[in-house]
Amino acid sequence: MDERLWEGNVRKVVPYTPGEQPKVLDVVKLNTNENPYPPSPLVKKALEEYDYNRMRLYPDTNSTVLVDALAEKYGVSTSEIFVGVGSDDVISMAFLTFFNSDKPIFFPDVTYSFYDVWADVYKIPYEKQPLDDNYRIVPEDYKKKNGGIIFPNPNAPTGVLESLETIEDIIKANPDVIVMIDEAYVDFGGESCIPLTKKYDNLLVIQTFSKSRSMAGMRIGYAIGNEKLIKYLNDVKFSINSYTMNPLSQICGAMAVKDDEYFMECNRKIIATREKTMERLEKLGFIFTDSKSNFIFAEHKTVDADHIFNELKNRRIFVRHWNAPRISNRLRITVGTDGEMDILITALDEIIGNYGKE
Ligand code: PMP
Repeated sequence: MDERLWEGNVRKVVPYTPGEQPKVLDVVKLNTNENPYPPSPLVKKALEEYDYNRMRLYPDTNSTVLVDALAEKYGVSTSEIFVGVGSDDVISMAFLTFFNSDKPIFFPDVTYSFYDVWADVYKIPYEKQPLDDNYRIVPEDYKKKNGGIIFPNPNAPTGVLESLETIEDIIKANPDVIVMIDEAYVDFGGESCIPLTKKYDNLLVIQTFSKSRSMAGMRIGYAIGNEKLIKYLNDVKFSINSYTMNPLSQICGAMAVKDDEYFMECNRKIIATREKTMERLEKLGFIFTDSKSNFIFAEHKTVDADHIFNELKNRRIFVRHWNAPRISNRLRITVGTDGEMDILITALDEIIGNYGKE
């Protein structure tokens, strides 16, 4: 098709590709790292008690109930918390606010594939730093001149966790830029670097309710950092849209945070299922990283990831596969319930057993 003249002025981007959300329900969905367990019963109660007539009103722009609950949980002041509509919204706002240098921002070559999309849409220069052969971060790579740093810990889609010492080493070497640690998966066996925000005013830690709090559909994310960072973030947010988080998300989010016992129990279950599934995958000939997240990043010794992906899909089992450099033979498998993992392992056993015989 001919390009029209006005198209020369369009902000053109290649958008992020989210994991498939199948339209039918009778599938085993292990492709977007959702939690297989329901949110806390306190969330259910809040939902039942919600007066729908309140929907006439605009929501609290400061999400006070949610921010208060988070401040109490993490032992920080409310002025050290920024909330957004999922951590995607929080990270996007943080890119726009803090990555304004003409020097490139750094993130790993194998990481959350949304980072380059935000960099592109906001015209932020970036340089990917290669992980080593074990998918680990090489701290020295992050000590060159840069315009800011972001990576997830544990990393996604690898599940590999870096130590707080490694993270602190990188922050210390970068006092003049903002370092963002995306802790979407930290509750499944990682150690949060939130305490380091007291020591480093250039550290922003981002977390989400989508994974460990079973609330991906409610779209709640937050960042914790020095109050100066949070003020700058809010200034940008309130220059775009004041009313982002709906009241139900604010209330339900606050209730989820208050139920620490349920939260810990679900996380324990996911971790136990992950460890059991890893043992079973190993017996089937898979190799994988030592994941500290709610997914397993696995490769089979002889059968192509592409083949396994398609065969699983034929059996209505959805996992994630990328045709991207260094990871095209890997599958990212979300940890579901024990029952879902039984279905997965039975299917994999069959697919691998049949390989080459068809
Ligand atoms: N960071 C990482 C590393 C992720 O994998 C995801 C989930 N796709 C997110 C952030 C965003 O999650 P959400 O917007 O649901 O909070």
